[in-house]
Amino acid sequence: MRVAVIGAGVIGLSTAQSIYEHYHSVVQPLTIQVYADRFTPLTTSDGAAGLLQPNLSDRGKEEETRWTKETFDHLLTFIKSPHGSEMGLFLQSGFNVVSEPAQEPCFKDIVFGFRELSERELQMFPGYKHGWFNTAMIVEGKSYLPWLMRWSRLLILLVKCHHRRIESFAELHTCHSMVMMDCGTNGWRSGQPDSDLRPSRGQIIKVDAPWLKHWVLAHNFTKGEFTYIIPG
Ligand SMILES: Cc1cc2nc3c(=O)[nH]c(=O)nc-3n(C[C@H](O)[C@H](O)[C@H](O)COP(=O)(O)OP(=O)(O)OC[C@H]3O[C@@H](n4cnc5c(N)ncnc54)[C@H](O)[C@@H]3O)c2cc1C
Repeated sequence: MRVAVIGAGVIGLSTAQSIYEHYHSVVQPLTIQVYADRFTPLTTSDGAAGLLQPNLSDRGKEEETRWTKETFDHLLTFIKSPHGSEMGLFLQSGFNVVSEPAQEPCFKDIVFGFRELSERELQMFPGYKHGWFNTAMIVEGKSYLPWLMRWSRLLILLVKCHHRRIESFAELHTCHSMVMMDCGTNGWRSGQPDSDLRPSRGQIIKVDAPWLKHWVLAHNFTKGEFTYIIPG
């Protein structure tokens, strides 16, 4: 079987690796071709801080919570292995603060050490009335993507990367039995319109503050703002 994956950000490369690991022993021959017009270090994923913690609520999409738990548990198996630091994996603790009392987040049983903030802790965050503390996983894109590319080069006969922009599925379907589309944040409206996928925009400010060791995610529901600090 020839599988095409479009996109070489964290989603595309992880998809290629997951397909290989799940199926190479049962589907033979299996080759995976990754097509992308940008590879590391030029994807959005390279710039991500890599905090693996979903939104406060999965809005009833329970599979999102399940996928996060599976990803967290999968990465946890590497964290004490020699690959952990090459992959840019580590655990880091921090504060989630909210402008008004809210239901416990959907990730409470996925992360470690989840608990409510005390009044004393909340005094550090004026304007925020409620919150939680927990330890989350960090998967730094600047390390994780090069690690995935090194993995693909080790399997050069089975996993091949092509620097190429794809405009439509038709370009690939004649020579591949399965096409996975993972073009992430750049989107691919002409190839596969998806009304659920919406771009969002924000500003990132990089500051030199080595004394900051915890992340802080601040949700202001009244103003519809989400501001965060992630050390790294
Ligand atoms: C500054 C910043 C910080 C962030 N921090 C976090 C964080 O802490 N935690 C978190 O979970 N998320 C974070 N994010 C969001 C996260 O980076 C993205 O959700 C994630 O990188 C998306 O990955 P992706 O693989 O889907 O897309 P991308 O990394 O954008 O990769 C898309 C791939 O598709 C390819 N492609 C697109 N169109 C085509 C085409 N037509 N033909 C061929 N190839 C194509 C591109 O070349 C690229 O290889 C952050 C984002 C930014 C910008």
